[in-house]
Amino acid sequence: MQSMIVPPGQHRLPRLPYALNDLEPVISSRLIKIHHDQHHKAYVDGLNIAELKLVEARQKRDFSLIKHWERELAFHGSGHILHSIYWKSMAPIGNRWETPGAQSIKFIMSYFGSLETFWEQFTAAAINVEASGWALLVWQPAWRRLEILTVEKHQDLYQVASIPILVMDVWEHAYYLDYQNRRKDYVTAWGQLVNWHEVERRLLMAMQAQMPLG
Ligand code: MN
Repeated sequence: MQSMIVPPGQHRLPRLPYALNDLEPVISSRLIKIHHDQHHKAYVDGLNIAELKLVEARQKRDFSLIKHWERELAFHGSGHILHSIYWKSMAPIGNRWETPGAQSIKFIMSYFGSLETFWEQFTAAAINVEASGWALLVWQPAWRRLEILTVEKHQDLYQVASIPILVMDVWEHAYYLDYQNRRKDYVTAWGQLVNWHEVERRLLMAMQAQMPLG
């Protein structure tokens, strides 16, 4: 699937790629519904508003609120993109690849040493995100390899140009209903949902990006 040009203010909430209860018992249907229909929708709405306010600002040549709308653009834009990938980063148990695909495992092994070491670092990173945020496996086109990053909120501490491949939401709204304050239990259980087929698909697409630094 190719990226499409989205005009300002025209972002849409994507449909979930499975039924609400398909991720049980790891994540309940009630949690998925609130997370998708309310939280993710709020980021889509916030992004659309920010973009339209900036269209208006350009028309009026009035940039007095530029700092506010740039913040909104980054927060809601990253929130929308990360949630869209998050839904596809998970697949129902029994309906997914049990192990990484060929390119995924090649790059995981060459950089992290083993799948176990990669997963240990990824989950430790997720557990230790301060307050709200994400753990990301990214492809960095500037040096053509994978990396693990954490993001606070949706946008802070991000490494420019890196392309998310696998994303884990560790905002409280992603687990509190089912796990309360036990983020570690959610992160650990989440391993059962990893959609390796999607990881391989995204990696192959990301590897086509060119980001020469010289
Ligand atoms: Mn979320």
